Amino acid sequence: MLSRIIDSHCHYDDKAFDGDREQVLTEVLSSVRAVIHAATDEKSSLFGIENSLRWDNFYTAVGFHPEELDRLPPDPEKTLEQLLSRQGKIVAVGEIGLDYHYEGFDREKQLEMFEMQLAAANKHRLPVIVHLRNATEDGMALLEKHKPKGVLHCFSGSAETALQAVKLGLYISFTGALTFKNAKKAVKACAAVPAERLLLETDCPYMSPEPLRGSRCDSRMIVHTAEKMGEIKGFSADQMIELCAENTRQLFNL
Ligand SMILES: [Zn+2]
Repeated sequence: MLSRIIDSHCHYDDKAFDGDREQVLTEVLSSVRAVIHAATDEKSSLFGIENSLRWDNFYTAVGFHPEELDRLPPDPEKTLEQLLSRQGKIVAVGEIGLDYHYEGFDREKQLEMFEMQLAAANKHRLPVIVHLRNATEDGMALLEKHKPKGVLHCFSGSAETALQAVKLGLYISFTGALTFKNAKKAVKACAAVPAERLLLETDCPYMSPEPLRGSRCDSRMIVHTAEKMGEIKGFSADQMIELCAENTRQLFNL
C-alpha cells in the first residue's frame, strides 16, 4: 500500500526535520511512490528544486506562501520567473493564496501576490496549489477570474465551496485533519466532492492523522487519511490511495 502513495503536499524543509532530514527523506522516498514539495518562500523553492534533481520521485512547486510575505524578495515577480526557469521537476506554483487568520495580515499585499502568482502559473501552464484560510470569498473570486488548473489544499471549507471549486475545474485535497473528531465539516465536503477530484496530502510535518495526531507527520502516514477518506467515499484505503495518486498524476502531469 505504501508504495502506491503520492503525497501531493509536504514540507520536508520544515525545521521539525532539521535533526534527521536526510534519513527521513531516504526512508520516505524509498517507501512511497512520489511526493510534491509545497514551497513557502524563495529559499523553500530552492530546497524543492535541489531535491527534485537529487531524487527521482521528489517533485516540487515554487512560490510564495501568503503567511511568508514579510520575507519576499525585492522583486517577487522577477524572482518567481527565475525560479520557474530553473532546471528541475517543477510541477506547480505554490503554495499561494490568502490567509486572514492572524491579526495584522496585509490583505492588499496578499491579494496582489496571489494574483501575480496565478497569472504566472497560467503563463507557464502550471497548476497552482492554493492555501485559503478565512478568505473563501476573496479567494474564490480570484480563482474564478483567473481560472487556473489546481488544487485547494488542506480543505476545511463547506461542501458548497468545495463544489464551487469543482465546478471551476479544481481539485480538493484533504490532510490528516479529515480524521479528527471535530472534522464534521471536512467530512461533509469530502462526501460531496466527486472521487475523481480528490487528492490526498500530509502537509507534513503538520496535521498527523489519528491515531498519530500530535506526532511529527511524514508521507507514510497518509495511509490513515486514505482509510478515513475511503470510509466516506465507499472505497478501501488501497483503492483510495490508487485513485488519488492517479488524480495527482493527472493534475500535476507527473
Ligand atoms: Zn502546506
